[in-house]
Amino acid sequence: MSQGHSDERLLTERANQGKGVDLSVSISTRPAYEVAVIGGGLLGGAIAYGLAKLGLKTAMVDEGDIAHRAARGNTSLVWVQGKGYGCPAYAAWTVRAAKAWPVFAAELKELTGVDVNYRRTGGLKFCLDDGEFECRHKLIDGIEPESPEARSEMLDRQALLDIYPEIGPQVAGASYNPMDGQVNSLLLWRALHQGFQQHSGHYLPRHSVGSIRQIENGFELVTMNGSVQAEKILLAAGVANARFAAQLGLKGGVRPVRGQVLVSEKLPLLFPVPATDLVQTDTGGVLIGNVEEDADFDERTNMRVLASMARRAVATFPSLETVQLVRSWAALRVMTEDGNPLYQRSDSHPRAFAASTHSGVTLTPLHATMLARWIAGLEIDPAIADFGPEQRYVH
Ligand SMILES: Cc1cc2nc3c(=O)[nH]c(=O)nc-3n(C[C@H](O)[C@H](O)[C@H](O)COP(=O)(O)OP(=O)(O)OC[C@H]3O[C@@H](n4cnc5c(N)ncnc54)[C@H](O)[C@@H]3O)c2cc1C
Repeated sequence: MSQGHSDERLLTERANQGKGVDLSVSISTRPAYEVAVIGGGLLGGAIAYGLAKLGLKTAMVDEGDIAHRAARGNTSLVWVQGKGYGCPAYAAWTVRAAKAWPVFAAELKELTGVDVNYRRTGGLKFCLDDGEFECRHKLIDGIEPESPEARSEMLDRQALLDIYPEIGPQVAGASYNPMDGQVNSLLLWRALHQGFQQHSGHYLPRHSVGSIRQIENGFELVTMNGSVQAEKILLAAGVANARFAAQLGLKGGVRPVRGQVLVSEKLPLLFPVPATDLVQTDTGGVLIGNVEEDADFDERTNMRVLASMARRAVATFPSLETVQLVRSWAALRVMTEDGNPLYQRSDSHPRAFAASTHSGVTLTPLHATMLARWIAGLEIDPAIADFGPEQRYVH
């Protein structure tokens, strides 16, 4: 049976439920879940939320706190600028996500009561000398957004002083995009999980998937806490996607890229406009740092790197010199080969899907809607094809 027919069958059965039609025979041969999402991070959480909202019987099968989880270590930016160099589709996708944020945040608040504190503030990337400024200028000029309001601009030092009069003497300028903003990504993560469960999704923590077996009508996920059967599966296990992809005919295509973050004491509002390496959270702490390191699966911080991050922050804002730092962490970005999202459906196992991105905060509203509808078999947003395994871009 083709996937299209199968989806039709599921929808017809769902429509017949409650009309007194006896489906016991066909239901008993079906796996317990229509979709199992492997991974309960930001990407898995968003898509699982969307699937459950569509009414699909969905399990979110998650390893838990011992796993490498970018979801708990990111800097919460909803970020448009700099995305899509050499890939206009990614620029457009990111802008769509930024535009969808206000409605999506309101939806989560109404459903779960959790305010994820989305703010579209505009955003900056500081340049500390003329070389950095020129380099950034070239990158920004190379990105063609579809809509003019999503275009980034370069602000010279004089223009930047209007936003932040207290910048250090070294600062040459910054790039600025009005669509950039931020959320509280930990609250976002919580709201997605809560909303998923409110839509009758089943969250299965401490279910690290050890192997995946194909069964009649779907797959069996073998976990340390029992097996889970589902008609379709989505690999959304972050950097662990590479482990299962090949056996399902999917491209692994992700590697860990370490980021390190310094966190200050809670401060009155200093940075209403966030920057790539300086983000003040809604609770007052300032997150410092935006390094990208190839460190394999090593999630430890490194004093030399933390010191250089602190020096750069103080060069940008000298007043930070006296601020107390309260902690630091490192976390692994889920990096695809070309840095763009990777959304796949297997040719050899058409009920198996995979998704990976290092913009898991920014793209949440699209993951919860467009990707969920695609996996449910309801509608394929044409943009999704731009991020398939054959559409890779060279920078
Ligand atoms: C330092 C840093 C800063 C960042 N800043 C931003 C930002 O400002 N804006 C932005 O948009 N993005 C940012 N990101 C990226 C963002 O956090 C990620 O894109 C997002 O978290 C990826 O989500 P994910 O669900 O794919 O992976 P993760 O969040 O890593 O989640 C993977 C999940 O898979 C589960 N898992 C793993 N193996 C298994 C298994 N075998 N069985 C079951 N479950 C398994 C884990 O338990 C985990 O819950 C940042 C990332 C880092 C590291």
